[in-house]
Amino acid sequence: MQELASESVVTQPIEERLELVRFKVDKRPHIRVHTEACRGCDLTPCVYVCPAGLFEILGGEMHFSYEHCLECGTCYVACERKAIEWEYPRGGWGVSFRAS
Ligand code: SF4
Ligand code: SF4
Repeated sequence: MQELASESVVTQPIEERLELVRFKVDKRPHIRVHTEACRGCDLTPCVYVCPAGLFEILGGEMHFSYEHCLECGTCYVACERKAIEWEYPRGGWGVSFRAS
């Protein structure tokens, strides 16, 4: 019985699991991207590593939105140019990983 339960978690599609995530969006961004540093960043790792897909190159410019951030910190680690200012959201704000 225990095996079945863990198997269903593992095989549940990521889209379904993300539907359980809730956000309480603070007006104050907890992540800032200094996009001037993004010009000439050819590999743009942030675009590929962000599980929420919050980094996007549009018309040659970096666009970022913090509202649906999963707070994993991966973008901060991946950006070698230190273009990302990162902190956790203030208490009571941000992602909640269990639907209530
Ligand atoms: S990795 Fe850093 S410098 Fe490169 S595009 Fe992303 S945020 Fe900008
Ligand atoms: S902390 Fe994670 S989810 Fe949030 S923007 Fe960075 S990579 Fe994306």
